[in-house]
Amino acid sequence: MSSLWLRGSWVLVCSSALFLAGCGADGSVVWPVSAETGGDFPLSSTFGPRVRTDDDVYDFHRGIDIAVPEGTDVHAIAAGRVTEVQENTSAGGMMVKVDHGDYYSTYIHCSSVEVDVGDSVDPGDVIALSGKATNGFAHLHFEIRKPGDDRKDCVHPLDVLPYADKGAPTLEIGKVDMTNPLEPRITITTRVPAGELDLRSVSVATFEADAGAVLSGLRPLSERVYDIEAWNRAYTAPASDAVVDDPNHEGILVRPQKYNNTMSASEIDFTFTGLVGTVTSGLLRVRAVATDVRGNEIAVESQ
Ligand SMILES: [Zn+2]
Repeated sequence: MSSLWLRGSWVLVCSSALFLAGCGADGSVVWPVSAETGGDFPLSSTFGPRVRTDDDVYDFHRGIDIAVPEGTDVHAIAAGRVTEVQENTSAGGMMVKVDHGDYYSTYIHCSSVEVDVGDSVDPGDVIALSGKATNGFAHLHFEIRKPGDDRKDCVHPLDVLPYADKGAPTLEIGKVDMTNPLEPRITITTRVPAGELDLRSVSVATFEADAGAVLSGLRPLSERVYDIEAWNRAYTAPASDAVVDDPNHEGILVRPQKYNNTMSASEIDFTFTGLVGTVTSGLLRVRAVATDVRGNEIAVESQ
């Protein structure tokens, strides 16, 4: 097998950091556990692909997990109306859903629910007490669904919850497998620090160009994108609520590293196939881009 290891030879070509204020700075949106506007980190699990720590199974996580003891107050994040209360969910505990007009919030694994369907709620109102999942892990699982209220409508909760953004994820071009030089397999590694966990998308593009050529103005041979929200929308079957439990769709293999709230960063390897390569491996150049929820972007290019 012929492959190039480009770790160490990639170069950061641009990084934009926006440092936006939290969208709830006016008090209209609060966190579901603390009712604060500054964040509830560390999260024990974030939105997107993950390997579960208790059984090594790959799944697609449609919300965030906030580890808190059973019986912790759960707050409505914004003004709205309760549209659903489920007594016994298959994931464990009770579920409440609130309609906020242009999106829904759901609160899962609750040990009790303090509101009824039809009730109006204000931001910060206690609507439930937290509980635990079927595996015994005490936490609140929290989702944002937009524009509908199905599981395929789940979007990154940090789209809505206020948090202090610290800038773009870090990104590496890893292994470039040239076994078939016309169809390279390219692995990209994204790394997002704890207290951030806001990766939105990663893309990779191939170019035929000499070393040192500036890629950003060139037309790529091929380009592929993994957008986490689009992935959920595409692969969650609306009829069955099936989980996205296969890490390999459309020739993009997703391998998250294990993560929990004691770790400093969350790391995911994406291996892209279906790309166009070059006959001469020395002319294959790779550009990768990662984007976070706030639109911060980082791009790296192979040399
Ligand atoms: Zn969860």
